[in-house]
Amino acid sequence: MQSSMSLSLSSPSTITRSNSTKVDLFSTNNSPTPRALRFCGLRREVLGFKSSSTSNSTAFLVSSKRQHVKNVSASLSGNGTPSKGFDYDLVIIGAGVGGHGAALHAVEKGLKTAIIEGDVIGGTCVNRGCVPSKALLAVSGRMRELQNEHHMKAFGLQVAAAGYDRQGVADHANNLASKIRINLTNSLKAIGVDILTGTGMILGPQKVKYGSDNIITTKDIIIATGSVPSVPNGIEVDGKTVITSDHALKLEFVPEWIAIVGSGYIGLEFSDVYTALGSEVTFVEALDQLMPGFDPEIGKLAQRVLINPRKIDYHTGVYASKITPAKDGKPVTIELIDAKTKEPKDTLEVDAALIATGRAPFTQGLGLDKINVQTQRGFVPVDERMRVIDANGELVPHLYCIGDANGKMMLAHAASAQGISVVEQVCGKDHVLNHLSIPAACFTHPEISMVGLTEPQAREKAEKEGFEISVAKTSFKANTKALAENEGEGLAKLIYRPDSGEILGVHIFGLHAADLIHEASNAIAMGSRIQRWPGTPFGFVMFNPDGSLDGNPGIKVGEEPQAREKAEKEGFEISVAKTSFKANTKALAENEGEGLAKLIYRPDSGEILGVHIFGLHAADLIHEASNAIAMGSRIQDIKFAVHAHPTLSEVLDELFKSAKVKVNISSPVGEPVAV
Ligand code: FAD
Repeated sequence: MQSSMSLSLSSPSTITRSNSTKVDLFSTNNSPTPRALRFCGLRREVLGFKSSSTSNSTAFLVSSKRQHVKNVSASLSGNGTPSKGFDYDLVIIGAGVGGHGAALHAVEKGLKTAIIEGDVIGGTCVNRGCVPSKALLAVSGRMRELQNEHHMKAFGLQVAAAGYDRQGVADHANNLASKIRINLTNSLKAIGVDILTGTGMILGPQKVKYGSDNIITTKDIIIATGSVPSVPNGIEVDGKTVITSDHALKLEFVPEWIAIVGSGYIGLEFSDVYTALGSEVTFVEALDQLMPGFDPEIGKLAQRVLINPRKIDYHTGVYASKITPAKDGKPVTIELIDAKTKEPKDTLEVDAALIATGRAPFTQGLGLDKINVQTQRGFVPVDERMRVIDANGELVPHLYCIGDANGKMMLAHAASAQGISVVEQVCGKDHVLNHLSIPAACFTHPEISMVGLTEPQAREKAEKEGFEISVAKTSFKANTKALAENEGEGLAKLIYRPDSGEILGVHIFGLHAADLIHEASNAIAMGSRIQRWPGTPFGFVMFNPDGSLDGNPGIKVGEEPQAREKAEKEGFEISVAKTSFKANTKALAENEGEGLAKLIYRPDSGEILGVHIFGLHAADLIHEASNAIAMGSRIQDIKFAVHAHPTLSEVLDELFKSAKVKVNISSPVGEPVAV
């Protein structure tokens, strides 16, 4: 694949990334679209907090240390001493969310760790992806609500015409990205990770070069170099009228009419933003239906709610074969051809075009050829343990690749979870990440979330393996809380095996879907069966009608004084961990950082004694904890549950991860985990 992406090795301290990678639309080898529509737990350290759970209290240490040197070795070092003969135990190339997640876990595990970054810390997610996009979506959600006169009237509210200041909206996104980037950098410094600036290159087994001539040795290497926007051949991106998500997130202008090429989750989220800000949108989609990555039934409903009533039209089954930017008073022109016959179909003239046709791996210049590794459409081939596979099909010792660069699941929290999984292995514990338990979310209004298989995928698997599947559905129309909010448009769908109760997939469209999915994703991750789930079968994916905690017995021993009394009587120790909503990207995107989650647990066994949350969506978030108590899940297991990024549920993820359990006894769930 020819790529216009350039990796400047002549410049020792910066990576020159073009905005995109060019792909040939008609070559089957050449479509680096994500394999699945999928979505970091930015740990509390993002805020520069270091937490230590003690038996009686939780202390937050705020790092104010500032470093200005090129290679930063933090003084608050928790970073271990390297194995004999090596400079480091672990070197990570790329400080995106994947690299960051791996580095935090590595230091926790006592590995001497360095992270090499050629551009800015935080990678795509923080600087050009999840974080700024969710800030824009927070604005679009409010605009939508304020503009919906019918909705407002139903509440008895009167609102004068809603308006916005484009620069103010853009500043919100930019400021959030800067804040999270600074916090992320501080978090690495605070725990003593060596941040090495420059382009990283593998020189050979266990040897890495960074910058112009710095050579280091390391026991293990993780490639975490991420991705860039993928732009089909024939499309000229000028960064002004023909743009990628990198440009769109700056919100330099709001076009009257914008074509969005590609209706995956990125295109769909931008349609939510642009239409709320007053643009008309035209989707151009190569496949025969919009939103091809979603479960078809959810896609249909999403079309009815997110597309049809809005100022959006669409062309499906067509490729944008040529796009020319606006020039000399002429609009942007888009030439459409039939996706199957390649015959010309139509020409569109619009004010702007956003190219949202997927992401291409950023793996050039890494020196993979020197170790006999051949990328596949740019992706680094890996096995289920993220171990790199060479051109002969052999595993390359001590070399791993995580995140967008391996293409397994191009989502921030998947990158981070893969990093944690690799660190577990490097530390001698076998760990295979169950990608079917990793949730994904699309942050439109309302939201869409999913975990596991879609119905067609489940049917195909059932047919091949000879089992039956069943589908259960519940509507948000029957949910008291949704109706109280006048948000009854929604559906939750459960795909399961009636013979065993195994959960194969859960899909939700509706209010707070991105938080609700975690009950289901945890159930899949823990191998729980429907019949063992507290409450009614398939009811668990819905809002608890009044947001109360009834029916969750464990939570009744939840208060700290109660736990202390019980501990004293029965002769065990308790610990308390806390996380603040101020470290949560979604809460900050919504300007709702006021909140606290508190966990009371037994450090000797990992038993959860109580969880208390104050903050946005607390009534939804508590169910993950109450289910864990009901199922007897231990912290040492649940801390590996993957949470969609950026969601409020990550507050709980932080909470479980920050707990310090002394033993490693597993939860008593004996059923198999989906593969
Ligand atoms: P990246 O974040 O891309 O980081 C890679 C890092 O490596 C970069 O900092 C790069 O400069 C550095 N690097 C590359 N090569 C070298 C080298 N040779 N030497 C040194 N450094 C190098 N995901 C979600 O889960 N939820 C969302 O809501 C979401 N929204 C998104 C919205 C948009 C608009 C986009 C574009 C993406 C979104 N994603 C979302 C996807 C998410 O951003 C990516 O999956 C995630 O950032 C991948 O993380 P990574 O660590 O693999 O790579």
